[in-house]
Amino acid sequence: MNCKDCQSVFLDLLLDPGAPSHAAARSHVESCAKCNQKFKSLEATFALLDTWKAPEPSPYFDQKLAVRLREEQAKAPEGWFERLKSRLLFNTGRQFRPALAGALALILLAGGGTFADLSGFSHSTPQASAAVQDLQILDKNDQALQAMDQLLQEDSPADDNATPPTS
Ligand SMILES: [Zn+2]
Repeated sequence: MNCKDCQSVFLDLLLDPGAPSHAAARSHVESCAKCNQKFKSLEATFALLDTWKAPEPSPYFDQKLAVRLREEQAKAPEGWFERLKSRLLFNTGRQFRPALAGALALILLAGGGTFADLSGFSHSTPQASAAVQDLQILDKNDQALQAMDQLLQEDSPADDNATPPTS
């Protein structure tokens, strides 16, 4: 067994030193000074990791976290922008699906409507403009008649509200 093969099974040898399939590697480690040194170093590293203990979380960590979460949820956001931001940050996206569908439908309607308007506009333009002109003429006549009525009412002496009394 050469050094490369031996070092590739170092971890297996370390975790399960008594396994019969590692007999060749074990004998190589005992005979080869270089591999022996590397294996000892790896062994020392693992021994050090065994002594290391992860720090325990402070007692009541979960309860404190839950309380703080509830406080933040109960607190009203300051403005509409803060509310929108928190909604975007903390929601799951489920409540935006109807709004998204509506927006897409609106885009489709707008796009289709614009296309229909553009395609049908050139054909119906003369008729529409004639009707609009008639309506505008009628409107102007009506306005003129109303102005004449107002002038006549202000000129009539029977109307005492229009002119202040002069003495
Ligand atoms: Zn070796």
